[in-house]
Amino acid sequence: MKLFDTMNQHGHERVAFHVDPVTGLRAIIALHSTVLGNALGGTRRWAYTDESEAIRDVLRLSEGMTYKSAAADLPMGGAKSVIMIEKGKVPTEAEARAMGRFVNTFNGQYIAAEDVGVNTQYCDWMAQESNHVMGGITVSHGGDPSPFTSQGCFNAMKACLAHTGRKVDFSGLKIAVQGLGATGYELAKRCRAHGATVVGTDINPAAIERAVKELGVEALKPGQDIFAQECDILAPCALGAVLNNSTIKHLRCAIICGTANNQLHEPNIDGASLKQRGILYGPDFIVNAGGVIRLAGLYLGMTEAALDKKIEQIEHTTLAVLKEGKNDASEYVAAVNYAKRRIEAGRAKGAATKHPAMV
Ligand code: NAD
Repeated sequence: MKLFDTMNQHGHERVAFHVDPVTGLRAIIALHSTVLGNALGGTRRWAYTDESEAIRDVLRLSEGMTYKSAAADLPMGGAKSVIMIEKGKVPTEAEARAMGRFVNTFNGQYIAAEDVGVNTQYCDWMAQESNHVMGGITVSHGGDPSPFTSQGCFNAMKACLAHTGRKVDFSGLKIAVQGLGATGYELAKRCRAHGATVVGTDINPAAIERAVKELGVEALKPGQDIFAQECDILAPCALGAVLNNSTIKHLRCAIICGTANNQLHEPNIDGASLKQRGILYGPDFIVNAGGVIRLAGLYLGMTEAALDKKIEQIEHTTLAVLKEGKNDASEYVAAVNYAKRRIEAGRAKGAATKHPAMV
């Protein structure tokens, strides 16, 4: 990959690499945009196959955060970090503290939080070294944002149902969930509580067992493919790039609305393929904004009532974007345009404040 060319093409402001020889930490922070403000984005701890995969992931995730925060009308930019680990490497306080020191070099332009592989304890360990961490319980604050992400996604499902002319009623619906971890479990819980049947899968047998036992989720049988399940709503709640040229042709759902980031492998191509197939796509960074709203809102000093209202608002934002998407190549394109309009408005406002003589 030509890193500078890619940064230029996608508008990344800064990418930093860090190695801590004592703990073996290998981490990357990508700051995509600070046009609207400092940038909050999770830290992902993952066994990548190689460096290129980690770089691609952090670049895509950080760009997505810019659009997510802008579309949620937060005065925040977009950034993300990834930690490359060997498969099975257990997280330690020393590693997290080394990551916290790395986060601190951004002087608050980047605020870290949890993502896949990082929990509240890890956030608190990072926060021992930096004030620019959210999502912990004892040292930083905000706690686990997953239930708020899932609530926002559930609200977005209502918008998707309304947009397709269906009754906004979950009883009798069949919902297929890929990934029954923090957000997938909480989403399945809300769907079940509102009367839906949920079929689910996970690569972790314990996660399936918990969802079956506690929520009455139906586990996929061996050999069955979640992407080929006939259902009303498919909810990707694991990793990204799951909607691609091999999965899209097998889909048998009316709506896609899940918590995972970067669900489309090739956003423009795969977004358009879904539209051609008549499948409504709830754009990921619109529907999964509940977590960033929660943590960024707390960081910005918003009240609990204001935060709840903003998470409720995801339903209206989703509906507005889906309406716009009727005339676009895909709902994804509509969502990016929606976010970019807010960024450009913020840029113009910032430019007017900073350089009144030049505008
Ligand atoms: P998690 O690690 O708690 O859960 C992910 C689950 O997916 C795990 O149980 C894992 O075993 C499973 N999984 C991984 N690969 C799979 C596969 N191929 N098939 C089936 N299951 C698989 O993570 P999470 O916090 O629930 O996040 C899930 C997704 O949502 C990620 O893409 C994350 O970036 C995104 N997201 C999370 C939040 C949040 O608040 N946690 C906010 C926004 C977006």
